[in-house]
Parts: sequence; structure tokens; C-alpha cells
Amino acid sequence: MRGSRLRLIASRSTAETVPKPHSAARGHRMGTVALFTSLLLMLSGGPATAAPAETAPPGAVPDCSSPGAKCIALTFDDGPAPRTGELLDILDAHGVRSTFFMVGYQIERHPATVSLAHSRGHEVANHSANHPDLTELSESEIRAEISEVNRQIRREIGFTPPLMRPPYGETNATVERIIREFGMTQVLWNVDSEDWKDHDSATIAHQVLDDARPGAVVLMHDIHDTTIEAVPTILDGLSERGYTMVTVSQLLSGAHADMSRVDDAPALPYGSGSAP
Ligand SMILES: [Zn+2]
Repeated sequence: MRGSRLRLIASRSTAETVPKPHSAARGHRMGTVALFTSLLLMLSGGPATAAPAETAPPGAVPDCSSPGAKCIALTFDDGPAPRTGELLDILDAHGVRSTFFMVGYQIERHPATVSLAHSRGHEVANHSANHPDLTELSESEIRAEISEVNRQIRREIGFTPPLMRPPYGETNATVERIIREFGMTQVLWNVDSEDWKDHDSATIAHQVLDDARPGAVVLMHDIHDTTIEAVPTILDGLSERGYTMVTVSQLLSGAHADMSRVDDAPALPYGSGSAP
């Protein structure tokens, strides 16, 4: 399935953390992700018959392409935030690597957290400089939103991140094209923790564990205390269910990745985009 260059777009979350100035429905949004995902899983043989995979020991590179692999990627948006360091400690204690989609203004507030996350093996990715709806900006403004964060991340860890998540999951052909022109892969999500809604850690954990499936990308936000507090339960629950928690780039390297949440740009193993 990997060579099919699928250009499916994950459904937009009902909301993201930052209130949107214009919430009118857009025609380009696709509400059929579940259908696409089901179709994709059917075509790929489906994960339902997969045997549980052992959780990779800390430091090991998980093989998400192996038969029976149950990989899932936890992602944290809108940081780095004051408690991101604490979250890193929790993840590290469980031997879990995650992907952090960082916002430019937060990087300026917590620059050391960028290198801290990277040095501990987590993936640092781009979530725009100011968290706007990119579909409402001019092309030059979109480029500025992306390039500014690439510059900040390069400054902190020495290379350009390969992944970009548009704020609110709002994207269109122009945004996708510009992300590709940067040599980056657009990543949305297909499991929404809805951690912006109730701010109750038990509800967040249930939401993730109920919706978890092999190959999924889970949206969370490290700016919420209740999300941080839900993570230990989520990690324990996913481990008990046989999941291996990986970064998005690690997930993309596997044949069983659910491509409904990524653009069709080629997946780059994390770290391969190390050119300045
Ligand atoms: Zn966001």
C-alpha cells in the first residue's frame, strides 16, 4: 500500500485548543475519513487479525512493518509548555517516544524544551509560528509561518523537522503544496483525544483507549494539565493492549501505517532531514 501515494486527509477535529476566528464550515473538509480508513485497512489486510506485538524496549527502534505490529503514534500539539518537561519524564519512564508539534511562540518561551525533547529521542515537528488557520493566509504568509518554526527548530537542535501539522487540521491544496515545497510531510490525525473539551483526565484516557487502533495517530495537547495527568493511564492501557508507541516518522516507516492522516509526500525517517 505504501506505493499508492494516497492523498487522504484526516477529518478535522471538532475543535482544537485555540479558538478559531472563523468557524464556518468549509467545503474542502472531508467527513469520510472513517470510510477511507476502513477501506484502507481492508485493502491492507486489516490489523484486526494481528497478534499483539511486544513493546519495544527503551532505545530500540520498533519495526512497525513487521507482521503483527501494533504501532500507534501519540502526538502533542501547541507546546512546548510549562509541563512538557514533566511529560517527557513520564514518557521516558515508560520507554515511549512521541512526536511534539511545536508552535513558534511557545518555542520562544521554552526554547530549552525543544532540545530536551530531541535529546531524549522524541520527535520535534512544526505546528506553525502563530497557530493561524493557514487556509486563510496568503501563500507568502503560509511560507512565513512554516519557515519561522523551521528556523527556530534548526536553531535549537540543528536540523529542519520533516513533519508539519497545520493548526486545527485546516488544510487545502495550496497549504499541502507549500508544505511539500518545503520538503515536509503534512500530518493530521485520526484519533482525537478531545482533551480541549472536558479537561478531565479520566475522560481523555478513555477517549484515546476506546479509539486506539493500529497505525493511528493520536492528537493531544501538552498545554493542558489534565492531558499530562491522563498520559500514564494511556501509556499503561496501550501497553496492556499490546501497542508499541512510536513517533510519527517511525510509524510512517512501517507498512501498516494508516495513511489517512498524512499527505502523499514521501515519509522521511526521522533524522534523515538533517540538512540545515
Ligand atoms: Zn494546535
